[in-house]
Amino acid sequence: MKFGYRERCLDHDTGTRHPETADRLRAIRRGLARRYGVVYEEGDLADRAALEAVHDPDYVAAVEEFCADGGGTWDADTVAVEDTWEAARASAGLACWAVEAALDGADGRETPFSIGRPPGHHAESDEAMGFCFFNNAAVAVQHAIDDGAIDRAVVFDWDVHHGNGTQEIFYDRDDVLYASIHERGLFPGTGEILETGGPNARKTTLNVPFPGGSGDVEFTAAVDDLLDPAVERFDPDLFVVSAGFDAHRNDPISRMRVSTEGFGHLTTRVREIAGRHDAPLAFVLEGGYGLDALADSVGMVHEVFDGREPVDPDGEVTSKARRVIADVRDAHDL
Ligand SMILES: [Zn+2]
Repeated sequence: MKFGYRERCLDHDTGTRHPETADRLRAIRRGLARRYGVVYEEGDLADRAALEAVHDPDYVAAVEEFCADGGGTWDADTVAVEDTWEAARASAGLACWAVEAALDGADGRETPFSIGRPPGHHAESDEAMGFCFFNNAAVAVQHAIDDGAIDRAVVFDWDVHHGNGTQEIFYDRDDVLYASIHERGLFPGTGEILETGGPNARKTTLNVPFPGGSGDVEFTAAVDDLLDPAVERFDPDLFVVSAGFDAHRNDPISRMRVSTEGFGHLTTRVREIAGRHDAPLAFVLEGGYGLDALADSVGMVHEVFDGREPVDPDGEVTSKARRVIADVRDAHDL
């Protein structure tokens, strides 16, 4: 794969007790150093216009000022230093790079994956939260739409948390399908099945709030039984994965049970679905806080594009997860 990375993203210093640290990117890069065919690119810092296309200009200015004043605690989870302003713009810029590269034809072994931080999917149009300042995936998708490069995009978010920010930004839009699998009851508490989009959207928000303990078979079933038909109906020109790896069984902050091989399997499925629609495919890093699990999982995604065929997950979908899938299917007429 082609990975988007900038040293600048390490400068967002969250302190020693925070799960979202620069060590995450260092771990990913150490893992990738052992693998063949890894290429890095830098992208540009996202400019103000790109940020303001999805964020309130007053909010963008407030983040800039907060950082210029030395940063501090925005909320209990979300902290900044002076360098966070540039790191956050670098992270959003890397997501834009990934989408542009995909739209320029980077696929197969060249498929782009931006590994920026801070992450983005909790950032709303006018609020930072959950370690996120700018919604990297949303900025990138909106940029492609505003450029006239695409009309319709899917954002598939397999991070264990609900991407409330991405949902909020696109909630009343029929040109972006936001689909999320997340652990019910975790931060930020949004992402109910019946949150399906605003009056102008056509059920273009699809939430799969699984119970803790769900793993490879449940995630695969959600992709096959819900995401696949929803994407079929939507017919996107672009497919972005908000790729967090905190649903991994060895991640310290969730109770989900997805394996490294399971992330490989999900990657295979996503690749098939995007391919069927000729939708360019780009990955944007979100969370993932077990350093080994994170590095192994990103390495696995890379290997899938390098020809590895992960084994199919084995086992039965739990009855609780089956009920969630049935309810989502009902809510979306799938
Ligand atoms: Zn997360």
